[in-house]
Parts: sequence; C-alpha cells; structure tokens
Amino acid sequence: MRQEQREALRHRFGFRCGYCGVAERDVGAELTVDHFQPRSRGGLHEPDNWVYCCHPCNEFKGDCWQPDSSQRVLHPLRDAMDLHVAEQDDGSLRALTETGAFHIARLHLNRPQLIAYRRERRLLEAARDTQAGLLERLASLEEQLRTLTSKLDHLRSGEPEI
Ligand SMILES: [Zn+2]
Repeated sequence: MRQEQREALRHRFGFRCGYCGVAERDVGAELTVDHFQPRSRGGLHEPDNWVYCCHPCNEFKGDCWQPDSSQRVLHPLRDAMDLHVAEQDDGSLRALTETGAFHIARLHLNRPQLIAYRRERRLLEAARDTQAGLLERLASLEEQLRTLTSKLDHLRSGEPEI
C-alpha cells in the first residue's frame, strides 16, 4: 500500500474505525487496514476492498466472509448501518435485524470499553448543548443589561429617553 493510498483511506474514514467509530486520537495511533473480503477468501489488495479500522475490530472480524448470508459483517460505507443497528441511550448497540445482530456479535461492538466510550461521547454532546444554551442566554441578558443601563443613564442625566 502506497503512502498516499493510506492517507486517502484515513481521510475516507474520517480517521476513525469504520466498525466501532473510535478515532486515531482516542487510541493515540494510526489504525489498521482490513480487507473487507479477506485475502484468504479471494479478496483483492485494492482500495475498494479496504476498511480503515482499529486493531480489536480487525481481530474480531478475522476472516469472516459470507456476503450472501444474512449472517454477515456490514460494510461501514456500503451498508445502511442505521437499518440494522441502533445506538441506545445507555451507549449499547441494539440489533434491528438478524444481520445487525450478527455484525454486533462478530465485532464485539458491545464490549464494555465501547459502551463507556459511547456514553462519554453522549454526555459530552449533552454538555455542549447545555453550554450553547447558556451562552445564548448570557448574550441575551447582556443585551438587556445594556438597554437598562442606557435607560438608567438617561434618567440620571435628566434627558428625555430616546
Ligand atoms: Zn473498531
């Protein structure tokens, strides 16, 4: 694999594991390259067959290849993941289809560390929403304060209010 091909792959997957979503910066390293159709099962060493993924997901997926079965691993870019898998409030993944159930089980996508990771991300997003709301409220209060201060100044100076 040429360096520019690896760079293109990292960009295509947003520097994240295609299967579980952890980012390079979460693991503090670049991730691995999975052959979606394993080379041992006739898969080609070509960009179209590459999935950028973390080491554990790569290991768990192994040489799984049963594309015509409902028991198959979903492709992060070609399959509509949300038709098969739903993330729940507690950070765990729930299968919506038989394929989703197989995908979750094969890749161990409900491993405790991933559930904790998703829960943390949800808390962070909620905290960001709260912060955005508070900043908006603060801006509105500052505007009211400016208006009231200006009125007060006029009252003190005895000039008619504008
Ligand atoms: Zn992963």
